[in-house]
Amino acid sequence: MPHGEPALPDDELRELTAWQQDIREQFPIITAHPEPAYLDSAATAQKPRAVLDAVQTYLTTSNANAGRGAYPWANRTTALVERTRRRVKEFLGDPDPESGRSAVHFVSGTTEGLRTVARDWLTTHLTDGDEILVPHADHRANLLPWLEAERLLAERGVGVRVRGLPYQADSGDYDHRALAGAVGPRTRFVAVTHVHHVYGGDMNVHRIRAAVGPTVPICLDAAQSVGHLPVSVAALDVDFVVFSGHKALALPGTGAVWARNDPARGPELRPGGWQGTPNTVGIASLEAALDWLDAAGTDRIGRWGTALAARLTDGLRHLPSYEILGCQASLAAGSPLQRRHGIVTFRHRDIPSDDLGFILFSHGFMVRADSLCQAGTDETDPKHGSVRVSVHAYTTVEEVDRLQSVLTTLA
Ligand code: PLP
Repeated sequence: MPHGEPALPDDELRELTAWQQDIREQFPIITAHPEPAYLDSAATAQKPRAVLDAVQTYLTTSNANAGRGAYPWANRTTALVERTRRRVKEFLGDPDPESGRSAVHFVSGTTEGLRTVARDWLTTHLTDGDEILVPHADHRANLLPWLEAERLLAERGVGVRVRGLPYQADSGDYDHRALAGAVGPRTRFVAVTHVHHVYGGDMNVHRIRAAVGPTVPICLDAAQSVGHLPVSVAALDVDFVVFSGHKALALPGTGAVWARNDPARGPELRPGGWQGTPNTVGIASLEAALDWLDAAGTDRIGRWGTALAARLTDGLRHLPSYEILGCQASLAAGSPLQRRHGIVTFRHRDIPSDDLGFILFSHGFMVRADSLCQAGTDETDPKHGSVRVSVHAYTTVEEVDRLQSVLTTLA
């Protein structure tokens, strides 16, 4: 399909609309507060009743510490933690969840997970002169840990060269052709993002694998993809997947690092230090969230997010007052090119973004309006601000259309 064609044909959108009505009913906060419209799901997602119930059930039937007691509540809690590890592997399409080689480590979210990979894995085996490739215009959480690892290694006398992944200027996607030139015989690690938190684009991780070859370990920041679309570690051929539970319908303070632990690509990840009490309530919420996402269908959730983002992109790009960040076209669901997943970020040419955020709230929309924690931006510079609209399964076409008409009147 060429650029700019609607991402989903109308009949498919109609089919998904019937599915979506039932989905929306399952989010108590949304049904209790239909206005203002919550359009900030990339910051954190709302929770379905099944997740709230799982939290209530756990706390009222089994609350105890994990791995530290021999009575039924403690045993049930230990079983919950181990079952959810296994559940995360299945959810991520781990081809061999029983092998005992791959592992799931619970963390408080993507930020801590990426730091865990940086401090407890990357710094353990790089040697003087090695190179790592990291993104310089993705979320800060996916840059600062790698710079910290570089510093920690330098303190030990190990000089590692940090190279920036090249980007395409117009789409915000990585520049896969230029990437080939940045990869050398000393490239030992690449950090990438699955879905960009500002541009909303799928960063085409398969092309990164093709460019770096079969043996270089890849760490995937999946904060904006897990819970938003199907994520398969087998298809992506990455070595680490890191995500936040709160963006995947579970409670805040919950997240995971999945590690492939393929000896051909490096040592096993062994998170260092004493592992204290796990976030058992968060893990109970994560198990319920993954069950809910599978039942609702991550494929349908992904197509819904793509369809809504495409609808807004297509509406905005004809209004000259707005500058859309990243790819200008919606791109089709079946396109091999970059696709936009549930996130549309833009600026108004005359209205500062923080003002636009307030104006939109006064019209009944909750959106994000600032520099979005993007690496390389200056948070104090208003020129770096933008408005981000992000959707999830509970967002309706009507909400997006209503936003579109308000933005049109402000154009
Ligand atoms: N990476 C991306 C792409 C994100 O969008 C975010 C949060 O917005 C993070 C990392 C950090 O996630 P958390 O704050 O849950 O640790």
